[in-house]
Amino acid sequence: MPVEEYRKQVEAFSTDLSREHYMYFSGQKDRLELACLYERYSDLYSLDAVTEIRRWRSEASPQYSAIPQSLDKLLAFAVEHHLQMATRGISEQISEYESKAQITWQGRMLGFYESFVVLANEPDPSARRQLALRAGEVISRGNDLRTERIARQREACVALGFPSYLAAYTSTRHIDYTSLFKPIMEFLQATDRFYTTSLRRALANEIGVGLEDAHRSDVGYFSRLKRFDPHFPKEDLVACYNASMAGLEIDVARQTNITLDIEPRPRKHPRAFCSPIMIPDEIKLVITPHGGADDYAAFLHEAGHAQHMGWTSRRLTIEDRALGDRSVSEAYAFLFNYFIADTDWLTDILRFKNHEDFHQLQKLLKLHIIRRYAGKLRYELELHDSPSVHRDLASTYARYLTEATRFQYDPVEYLYDLDDGFYSADYLRAWIFEAQLRDHLRRRFGRSWFKSKKAGLFLMELWETGERYGADDLAAQIGLGSLDTGALLAEFHDAA
Ligand SMILES: [Zn+2]
Repeated sequence: MPVEEYRKQVEAFSTDLSREHYMYFSGQKDRLELACLYERYSDLYSLDAVTEIRRWRSEASPQYSAIPQSLDKLLAFAVEHHLQMATRGISEQISEYESKAQITWQGRMLGFYESFVVLANEPDPSARRQLALRAGEVISRGNDLRTERIARQREACVALGFPSYLAAYTSTRHIDYTSLFKPIMEFLQATDRFYTTSLRRALANEIGVGLEDAHRSDVGYFSRLKRFDPHFPKEDLVACYNASMAGLEIDVARQTNITLDIEPRPRKHPRAFCSPIMIPDEIKLVITPHGGADDYAAFLHEAGHAQHMGWTSRRLTIEDRALGDRSVSEAYAFLFNYFIADTDWLTDILRFKNHEDFHQLQKLLKLHIIRRYAGKLRYELELHDSPSVHRDLASTYARYLTEATRFQYDPVEYLYDLDDGFYSADYLRAWIFEAQLRDHLRRRFGRSWFKSKKAGLFLMELWETGERYGADDLAAQIGLGSLDTGALLAEFHDAA
């Protein structure tokens, strides 16, 4: 297949896949039917396809009208979906097992997934521990399937000619995950005192739990910050988004390519999400507003993705619109996500005056999630470096995550709390880039940069490049130098 035809097919596949996700998670379709969709496009990520793209890559010449970086993105796409195909049977078994699993709780039956919602709303710490134990039993029974899934991913990588799973991602995505390890560990160390002191105080004040007793099952309840709900009414969420965009001179009413889906439907997924059905022409921004700070943050995060993709130039190839460095879109998403941790935004847009406590807590929650992902990356590098998935890794997982977050983790989650393809590293790189970018926006356009037309134009120029450049290249082009944890570290420095 010529490269032009391959791109067309990738575009068609991405559109169908995104539409299927949108229809299912927005509650407009009963079942998520991915199997036949993956079958229909299987030529795009077969062994032959991977070989073909490698051939284009080695012969990169004008006749393919593609530069090597573009072909690398197509190769990363093919390899990633090849791994999905190779594990699809077992992935389906896992999701079927989990979606049917039930937990007996306080005289009623809870679905496994439902138990996490109950957990986040349970005010009694000992009840939370008990419920988490029951959920842990469900997780434990699924661990053999998950071990098998990792073994198949590894076999598939070797069959594609990569020495390992880590090597497959490092070489196709051009991200040196192991070199991220050192600065991230230094970040953990440098923020440790501020984190521990703030967390001890906040846990005592907010949920009456001592730092030594803090458990992973407390995280959801603690993060809700329920007492601030009156400042984040569900009725005002969309108006708050509109006002934030208006500050950047983005008139959302005129953005016909970004559709806001706020209609309540019984089966609609409760959390906000963004479905880029066609970039930039058909972007769905979906939410059922519930109110509360985390609801606002989740929606603003997805709005960041939507604006990025909605402003992406349609002249770019599919790989430069949709298949690049995932940290880039995540950084734009974090930029809006953390409006709620910005004192000027809280005052100017939300009209939340006495926000000192709230602001300190938001800072702490941000640091908590970054530290959690630092712990995850540290563990994942060890897991994927290990020749087999053995039980010792479970205690390593619990130790690293507990050390990083100070919440006691249960070893049982060592394969459950794990994303494919080093997404943990993508998030970490996004947090680093976002902090540098926001620092730049503040210096150039003032502390209230979110009310500056010029800042809006600057962002649109960046968004227009879609995913053509990686986070490292963008940072260099803006004049920020290389990706560096300095700006991120400074966010947690003043109160240390
Ligand atoms: Zn995101």
